[in-house]
Amino acid sequence: MPVPQRQTLDRLRDLAALGDPAGRPQRRIDEVFTGDPLAEIPMGDAEDVTAAFAEARAAQGRWAETSPRERAAVFERYRTLILDNRDFLMDLLQAETGKSRAAANEEVLGLALATQYYARVASGLLRPYRVPGLFPILVHTVVYHQPKGVVGFISPWNYPMILSIGDAVPALLAGNAAVIKPDSRTPFSLLANAELLYRAGLPRDVLAVVPGEGTVVGAEIAGNCDYLMFTGSTATGRLLAEQCARRLIGFSAELGGKNPMIVAAGADLDTVARAALRACFGNAGQLCLSMERIYVEAAVAQEFTEKFVAATESMTVGGAYDFTVAMGSMISADQLERVAKHVADAKSKGAKVLTGGNPRPDLGPLFYEPTVLTGVTDEMECARQETFGPLVAIYPVDTVDEAVARANDSEYGLNASVWAGSKARGRQIARRLRTGTVNVDEGYVPAFGSMGAPMGGMRDSGLGRRNGVEGLLKYTEPQAVATTRFKNLDTPPFLTDGQWQRLMIQLAGLVGLLPGRDVPPRTRRL
Ligand code: NAD
Repeated sequence: MPVPQRQTLDRLRDLAALGDPAGRPQRRIDEVFTGDPLAEIPMGDAEDVTAAFAEARAAQGRWAETSPRERAAVFERYRTLILDNRDFLMDLLQAETGKSRAAANEEVLGLALATQYYARVASGLLRPYRVPGLFPILVHTVVYHQPKGVVGFISPWNYPMILSIGDAVPALLAGNAAVIKPDSRTPFSLLANAELLYRAGLPRDVLAVVPGEGTVVGAEIAGNCDYLMFTGSTATGRLLAEQCARRLIGFSAELGGKNPMIVAAGADLDTVARAALRACFGNAGQLCLSMERIYVEAAVAQEFTEKFVAATESMTVGGAYDFTVAMGSMISADQLERVAKHVADAKSKGAKVLTGGNPRPDLGPLFYEPTVLTGVTDEMECARQETFGPLVAIYPVDTVDEAVARANDSEYGLNASVWAGSKARGRQIARRLRTGTVNVDEGYVPAFGSMGAPMGGMRDSGLGRRNGVEGLLKYTEPQAVATTRFKNLDTPPFLTDGQWQRLMIQLAGLVGLLPGRDVPPRTRRL
């Protein structure tokens, strides 16, 4: 079984930015599929965070002085190393999270794609650009992008590579240093990538990884950083938002979701039923983007439900370090309990379990069946709360308008999926949804994988965006440098003050008429 070797994990553990690992509390990391111990990781504390920031701050200026192209070259090499080491990275991801090989592959490829995208576009995005000055001719104004400084990252366990180092890539390319806290359950997935980045040429002191408890290490990162990128639950996001607001620093948060799928009459139901497995049960539903509510037009509801239930029952579930199994394990007992609790609550209040609804201890300690419910009503916990597991409810609706209204009736607004028979109709429905991403004829991969497109949530699903232009420029401070072309704006000696004021009024009228660059180059028109 390709569980990463003990020596490899010891080597990675030594990369953690901890003053002296000896004598610290250790956390045991288990192989999720079996519950067998993998390795121990020393836990950092507030002092480690302070030290990591001091070192990163001292190094950041030098890093920012390198050209964007030099920095991009490091990340081109890192991307190659990701792909060269993809089997090892997938083994590690599976061992620490219990995800299927396909979900691990999706994460490793996503990380390589994000790195490639930002390595290619960073120089262009960071290029200074001219804007029309105060007065044509008289004032020359240029906008620069300065790095924020040292960016803090607090990351979750479900995609522990792409949601940690993947977010740090654009920040580092923009000339920042980074201090990252992995989730306590998945430190090695992040440390393995830190090692690859150091091998690719990133200076060691520009990136620090501090494992530790959220309330200790996470809170200290939020108290020290110049900008905070957080991915995790809405509850923690709110706490951190308050802390950042008090410090008046920027904050970006990717939080929870209760994502809706709409299936309109006219959609090819066989295709939807198969693809919905990916959309609902990818990473065993432990994915902020996965679907937990399916609204189906009544005319096709019964047929869709039968096909989807049959497809769900044909899914293979288990722990395998290869592509033979479709769905893996829950990561922790907490997660397993949460799913079981939502199912028990729904059943007790009258919902019907169409398939699944049971843990599978015969497969390993933390497996749970992919589960489909009907008859879910608003007083049930799973109706509006995020389950974050392999649980989805089907709701028949009379019309697409009703589906749109119910899809939008949520505290969350992260991702949605639309199946409408025609792409054009799918896009029309998509535009009516209040979610940060919408996938037409798929669940989540096309939008998340479109690295040039911003990804994030509306309402309780978050603040700010990753990916695309926004995903890099948020780690910069725009700085406008304006220069008067002549001496300065004093009244010239050959004019009276009144003449000078009237001239300025006339010049102001010309602003916008004269050609003036520029806004940053974006993408092509639709
Ligand atoms: P969580 O908020 O409990 O933990 C996330 C991270 O925050 C961990 O590293 C944790 O140690 C740290 N943390 C916890 N309390 C903290 C505190 N008081 N101060 C500072 N740091 C603290 O979230 P989780 O349960 O591990 O992750 C699951 C949640 O994350 C789900 O709600 C899911 O939807 C969301 N999520 C969102 C996205 C997205 O991109 N929108 C992606 C993945 C997960």
